[in-house]
Amino acid sequence: MKALLVAEESSALKTVTHWIGGRTVPSCSGRSGPIWDPATGEVQGRVAFASAEEVDQAVAVARQAFPSWRATALSKRTDIMFRLRELVDRNRRNLADLLTREHGKTIPDALGEVSRGLENIEFACGIANLLKGGFSEQISRNVDVCQTRQPLGVVVGITPFNFPAMVPMWMLANAIACGNAFILKPSEKDPSASMLLAELIRQAGVPDGVFNVVHGDRVAVDRLLRHPDVKAISFVGSTPVAKAIYQTGTQLGKRVQALGGAKNHMLVLPDADIDMAADAAVSAAYGSAGERCMAISVVVAVGGIADPLVSAIKERMARIRVGPGAEDGNEMGPLITGEHRDRVASYVRNANQEGAKVVVDGTAHPLSQSAGFFLGTSLLDNVKPGMRCYDDEIFGPVLTVVRVQTYDEGLALVNAHPMGNGTAIFTRDGGTARQFQFDVEVGMVGINVPVPVPVSYYSFGGWKASLFGDLHMYGPEGIQFYTRAKVVTSRWPDPSTSQVDLGFPQLK
Ligand code: NAD
Repeated sequence: MKALLVAEESSALKTVTHWIGGRTVPSCSGRSGPIWDPATGEVQGRVAFASAEEVDQAVAVARQAFPSWRATALSKRTDIMFRLRELVDRNRRNLADLLTREHGKTIPDALGEVSRGLENIEFACGIANLLKGGFSEQISRNVDVCQTRQPLGVVVGITPFNFPAMVPMWMLANAIACGNAFILKPSEKDPSASMLLAELIRQAGVPDGVFNVVHGDRVAVDRLLRHPDVKAISFVGSTPVAKAIYQTGTQLGKRVQALGGAKNHMLVLPDADIDMAADAAVSAAYGSAGERCMAISVVVAVGGIADPLVSAIKERMARIRVGPGAEDGNEMGPLITGEHRDRVASYVRNANQEGAKVVVDGTAHPLSQSAGFFLGTSLLDNVKPGMRCYDDEIFGPVLTVVRVQTYDEGLALVNAHPMGNGTAIFTRDGGTARQFQFDVEVGMVGINVPVPVPVSYYSFGGWKASLFGDLHMYGPEGIQFYTRAKVVTSRWPDPSTSQVDLGFPQLK
C-alpha cells in the first residue's frame, strides 16, 4: 500500500504529490512543504504545492468526468458506495497509522476518527432513497409536476489538519454519491490519508477523474475558489479563512459552506455528578491534545461546584499519559507543529499576567523539552471574558474554568461568545437542561454528553462565527448542498384539444 501513497521516494523522505484522473501525478510547480513527524520533530517527507496551472488541470479532468458520472445509474453508484464502505472498513488500521504518523494522535483516537468518517459513506449508500424527488399528479387538467435534485458539477472540499480522514469523508461521500466530480485540497500538514482514500475510491470503481486530490497552500485554494468551472466549495478550518472563503466564493456566485473555529463551553450546574462531569471535561478537553473543533475548552462552573470540580479535574489530569501516539498506553500525543505548540504554550505562560490562576502548567511537562511537539495538559482557573485565553480559540490541551453564580449568568456567557460550534450542560435537572437546549445559541448541544458530534444521518454545523453559509455539513443538509432542485411541469394533452391562448397560464 505504501507504494500507492508515495509518488516518488528520494532517499528516506517520501514525497506526496497530486491525484488527478485516477493516478498520482508528479508536481512541476517547484514548490513543496515539509511533512513533520510531530512525535520526533523531524521532517518525514514533503508534499507538493500545486500551481494555478496544476489546479486548472485537475478541474479540467473533473469537468470531463462529470457528465458520464452524473448519468451513471443510481443502482451502480449505490453499488460503488457499498464497495467503498467495505474497502475503508478493511483499511481502518492503515488509515489510522497514517493519521498517527502525520497528525500525532493516538491509534485509538485515529481509529475513532476513521469510524466517524466511515459513517458518512454508510449514509451515502442510501443515495437512491436520499435523492427521491416529489411528484404531484393532475395539478391542472392533464398537467403533472415533479421535482428532481441534480448534481452541481465540479465541487471542491478544503479540509483542516485535525481530521485528515474524517472531514474529507464528511464531504466526498455525499458529493460523489449525488453525481458530482470532487476535488479535495487536504491540509498540507498531514496529506497522506487523502492519498490512501483516493486509492480506495479508485478500487471501489469510481471512474477516473470523479475524485481528485490537489495538494497545496493558499495558491491552490485561491485558484480553486476563483475557477469558473468550480460550482461549490465545502470548507472546514479556522474562522478567518472560513470567512474569507465564504465572502470570495459567494461573491463569485458559488455555493459555499465554510465551517470555522470553536470555543466550546461546558456548563456544570451545582447538582451535577462531580465525577461524571470531571471525567467528561478531561476527556473532551485533552483528547487529541485539544485539537478538535468539538473539544471542550471552557468549563463554566455554576455556584459551589467550582472548587470540588477543579480538584476532581486536576486529580485526573495527573494520570494522563502523554507520549508518541503510536506507543501503546499513551492517551495524548504531540501537537501538530512546533510553531503551534509554542503558540499554545504562550497562552499558558501569559495566563497569570492576565489575572487567571494556573492550576496545572503543561509547559512544565518533561516531554515539552523534547524534540517532538509535546506539551502537557494545562488547567487555568478564574478565567474571564476579555482575557486572551478566554476570547481566542487556543486549539491545544488547555482547559479554562470560568466561575459564575447562576445558570442565567452561565447561559449569557455562552451566548455572548462569538463562536457557537458546540456546547454541553451537565446536570441532573431535566427541566433546566431542556431550557438550556431551547435558549442556547450554539449549533450542537450535548446534555450530559461532552462532545455532541451529530451522527451521519443528522447534519454537522455551528452557529455564529463557527459557520458561514446556510447549510450544515453531511447528512440530509449535505445532500441538499451537493444538489440543486429542478421542477418540471408537464402536459400530455389530446392534440385535438390544442388551441392558441395568449393569457397567463392558470390552473383549470
Ligand atoms: P486552517 O484554516 O489553517 O486551514 C484549513 C485549510 O485551509 C487547509 O487546507 C489550509 O491549507 C487552507 N488554508 C490555510 N490558510 C489559508 C489561507 N490564508 N487562504 C486559503 N487557504 C488557507 O485550519 P487548520 O489549522 O488546518 O485547522 C484547525 C482549525 O479548523 C481550527 O480553527 C478548528 O476549530 C477548525 N475546525 C473546525 C471544524 C468545524 O467543523 N467547525 C472542524 C475541524 C476543524
